[in-house]
Amino acid sequence: MPKSLLQSFLAACALLASVSVMAQTVTDVPLSDADVKIKSAAQNAAQNAVQNAASEAAKKLPTAEEIAAERARLERMRAALAAERAALEKYKADLVQRQQEAAAAAAKAKADAEAKARIEKAIEEKEIGTAGSVPPPAKDDPVSVKNMSPEELQRQRQLAIERAKAIEKAVAVQKAADAKKKAAAAAASAAQTTTPKDKDVATMKLRRITQNKVKYVHLRDVAVNYGLTFAYTKNKANKVSGAVIYDKTRKAIFSSSYRDGTVNGVQVYFLYPMLIKNSEPYISEVDFLTCLDPLLRYKTAVKLGMKTIMIDAGHGGSDPGAINGAHKEKVYTLQIAKRLQTQLEKLGFRVIMTRTGDTYPTLQERAALCKKYKPDLFISIHCNSSTNKTPAGIETYRAVPVGGTETKGSKVKTEKQSANEFDANNSRLAYEIQKGVLAATGGTDRGTRHQAIYVTGNATCPAVLVEVGYLSNEAEVKKIASPDYQNKIVSGILAGLAGYGSFLR
Ligand SMILES: [Zn+2]
Repeated sequence: MPKSLLQSFLAACALLASVSVMAQTVTDVPLSDADVKIKSAAQNAAQNAVQNAASEAAKKLPTAEEIAAERARLERMRAALAAERAALEKYKADLVQRQQEAAAAAAKAKADAEAKARIEKAIEEKEIGTAGSVPPPAKDDPVSVKNMSPEELQRQRQLAIERAKAIEKAVAVQKAADAKKKAAAAAASAAQTTTPKDKDVATMKLRRITQNKVKYVHLRDVAVNYGLTFAYTKNKANKVSGAVIYDKTRKAIFSSSYRDGTVNGVQVYFLYPMLIKNSEPYISEVDFLTCLDPLLRYKTAVKLGMKTIMIDAGHGGSDPGAINGAHKEKVYTLQIAKRLQTQLEKLGFRVIMTRTGDTYPTLQERAALCKKYKPDLFISIHCNSSTNKTPAGIETYRAVPVGGTETKGSKVKTEKQSANEFDANNSRLAYEIQKGVLAATGGTDRGTRHQAIYVTGNATCPAVLVEVGYLSNEAEVKKIASPDYQNKIVSGILAGLAGYGSFLR
């Protein structure tokens, strides 16, 4: 399109627009009469309509009666709602109570079952059938009582109470039976450990004499004081040669020719043979006090602990001890000592070894260890030997009491050693260990003996030396070399310690 033509088109558009604006501005001109009539007619119509609507609305307003009725209805509804809410609250409370009751019943049933199980187990273990009268739980015994009626709940509760009472009764019966048993056992042990005649040595009335500077006590009087029966035997020359004092559980035999006697079946070397004066037997006072009294009496005045035990494996290192071919004493004493150590430690004892390897602490060093560590007991382990291949068996040594003699000699000991503080305990310890090892090994009884051995004499506590067998005896050395026999020796020593421990109580 040519430029001049575009300009004329635009000019035409602008003209048209201005005409349209002019047309709008003329509409506010005053209405004609016809228009006014139309307008007022419309206004009347609208007014009528409003009036009609108002009269219609006025017609629909509720009356005072209607309002009262409505209010009453609302009140009823509110009351009904309140009642419903109250019922709901009550229901809720009932539900909670039921749940609690159900939980309590379940807990009770569980406790009953557990108590019953305990009783049954106890009865089974004690093999007592009489207490088995606990009624079994009812078959309908509920684990869950969620939907149970109050009556049923009450019934179950009653059943549970009855069961609990029955269980309590059974427990009481069981307890009474146990108490009765315990009392009987206590009475039996009391009867065994307290003898009316088992009085203190110091209070005993004994006839005494002195012969060759040795004090003696009248054996018949000793028997009377222990509540024992006295009897004697005569030799071919019709002279008293032996004596025995005894009751149902105790028995000691003496000889007028030899120092070895027996106490309760175990060979015991006394310090002196029995003395016969005017056909009446006497035993030395030192034997009475340090040998016989600690063995016949169930209790002793000497109270010592037994927690730490020193074990002395004999010989070692440069000192092999007894030798039989390849068998060396130092090897077996250490093996047995270590086995004993293991067992004692298992039992809770504290153990101190004078040696743990192939070394040789001198006898003085061993005694010094005892003095330093202050054990409650000292046990030295050795093996025996003889130029004669026949001897075999067990010997247990203790220190020689002052005024006594060595088993292999007749020289009277005059100087007191540290071990002599424990003469009575040494005697009982030697006796118990000898008895224990004999029972465990079946070995030959060569008796409890007295000898001036450095370690036992210088011990600062009750001390013994056990000769567990003869290396020089071919049959016995084979046993001593075997772990099985070594264990038997150890169990025998443990049994001895247990016997000694009961003597201490
Ligand atoms: Zn030895």
